[in-house]
Amino acid sequence: MTLQPRPGILDIKPYKPGAADAPGIANPVKLSSNENPMGCSPLARSAFEASSKNLNLYPDGGATRLRAAIGKAYNLDPARIVCGTGSDELLQLLGRAYLAPGDKVVQSQYGFLVYRLVAMQSGAELVSAPETNFTTDVDAVLQVAGEDARIVFIANPNNPTGTYISHDEIRRLREGLPENTLLVVDEAYAEYVDRPDYETAFDLAREYDNVVVTRTFSKIHGLAALRLGWAYADGSIIDVLNRVRGPFNVNLPAIEAGIAAIEDTDFQQRSAEHNRQGLAYMHQQLGGLGLDVTPSVGNFVLVHFPETKGKTAAEADAFLTRKGLIVRPVAPYGLPNSLRITIGLDADNHKIVEALTEFMA
Ligand SMILES: *Cc1c(COP(=O)(O)O)cnc(C)c1O
Repeated sequence: MTLQPRPGILDIKPYKPGAADAPGIANPVKLSSNENPMGCSPLARSAFEASSKNLNLYPDGGATRLRAAIGKAYNLDPARIVCGTGSDELLQLLGRAYLAPGDKVVQSQYGFLVYRLVAMQSGAELVSAPETNFTTDVDAVLQVAGEDARIVFIANPNNPTGTYISHDEIRRLREGLPENTLLVVDEAYAEYVDRPDYETAFDLAREYDNVVVTRTFSKIHGLAALRLGWAYADGSIIDVLNRVRGPFNVNLPAIEAGIAAIEDTDFQQRSAEHNRQGLAYMHQQLGGLGLDVTPSVGNFVLVHFPETKGKTAAEADAFLTRKGLIVRPVAPYGLPNSLRITIGLDADNHKIVEALTEFMA
């Protein structure tokens, strides 16, 4: 073939989403993608359905009403918000706008795989900072970042580990990084966190002109299908993102459903409460089987399996799949002995516990 993309593009391993099928099983339980088991807000669904009358129309390219609704919900200036086709798109756009070939991008050891894709798409080099107890280690990140990191990506809480760092730690990270390093705090799971020392980094993004906070409608709002996310940052960064995004990057049904979802705090609270109970149940039950479960504040747990033949993560995964329970192998994250399991409906969580009880016996 003579036609070649830019150097490095063919080194990218395409992102592999969580499996959705179990061979031979009609209605498997999908706990592989951290989706909201409660569906979405009924108000968001109605808004989505009502929007079907207007499918011939271009959406508002500035997603003005959606940004206003988000701004109102979080007390943020809508002018400092940009919406995207999932927060994924916003992470990609940050790479497109700020990275050049050879640049250094830093993540925590078990950082979200998309950060690697973002770096590689721009020919940048991704360097990982070692974690302690599957948790971001700010000193390690600062050391790896040094004086020349272009972007530091931190998911707080992180996926696939489920761990978080305190607001003090995030602030210490920002204060320790040079001014010309962009700090991206990916808060896809922020709404689930129930810890007194956890806080959003919105205040840092307000204070500093080199901090971006990203949020998504895919998790607590249960709108993963619509692909909707947003970023909050200094106006200078928002201006850059508005230049590199597609003119109509967020579609009209997503805007309408997103406005309804952000206003439906009742649904958000019910989702968070359901998750709290499910998390506690999974930690207690799986821990009771002798499995090591990393303390999670997200909507999933990272479960570590023995290396003993017959009890490995790969064998557990196959066993669960045969029972129609789909979870997420995390070998691509360098965690070959672990599985990530999304918190499901109570009945689904029971099935997982029952199956793993049988598996570990
Ligand atoms: C799920 C997830 C996202 C959200 O992705 P969307 O593109 O908004 O669906 C972002 N970051 C992390 C760490 C995630 O796990």
